[in-house]
Amino acid sequence: MDDVKALIRDVPDFPKPGILFKDISPVLEDPAAFNAVIDDFVDRARAVGAEAIVGIESRGFIFGAPVAARLGVPFVLARKPGKLPAQTRAVEYALEYGADRLEMHVDALAPGTAVVILDDLLATGGTADAACQLVDAAEAKVAGVFVFIELTFLGGAARLEGRRVQSLVRY
Ligand code: AMP
Repeated sequence: MDDVKALIRDVPDFPKPGILFKDISPVLEDPAAFNAVIDDFVDRARAVGAEAIVGIESRGFIFGAPVAARLGVPFVLARKPGKLPAQTRAVEYALEYGADRLEMHVDALAPGTAVVILDDLLATGGTADAACQLVDAAEAKVAGVFVFIELTFLGGAARLEGRRVQSLVRY
């Protein structure tokens, strides 16, 4: 993972002044690195008994979809407002930069399903926490919250205490 970490590009002041954006594009553009990330997530998801993967829009989709396909389990979308066509549940949350809302189809997860939530990056944990609440609302179980990158200094894992956060790369 050290070789993969070296590919992550820091972009200062994006999308707002003061934010150091972690750009994963160079990782996605390197097939060996991208596969290493997917393989690592698949191993971890299997280890916690994942029966479904919830991907958070939009970069959580990039990692979540191949992981779910590789595992042979359903891939469930947690999307920004107004994107999902059928009946949804919604949770509001605060971002490192701004505020937003996540939605999930009400019929996406059967009660009791062991779910791994997947996203590219954990900052304050607001987004992942909202996804956890959507899984809770479906009466499914959060078996893990997996992120490619964790910005440990922002305290996301503490906010998600008890949610079994796993990260591949930490700053
Ligand atoms: P948070 O809800 O604060 O944990 O923010 C996590 C979400 O915002 C993730 O979906 C990330 O894609 C995005 N994000 C937040 N901070 C950054 C950052 N410094 N670099 C890249 N993406 C970020």
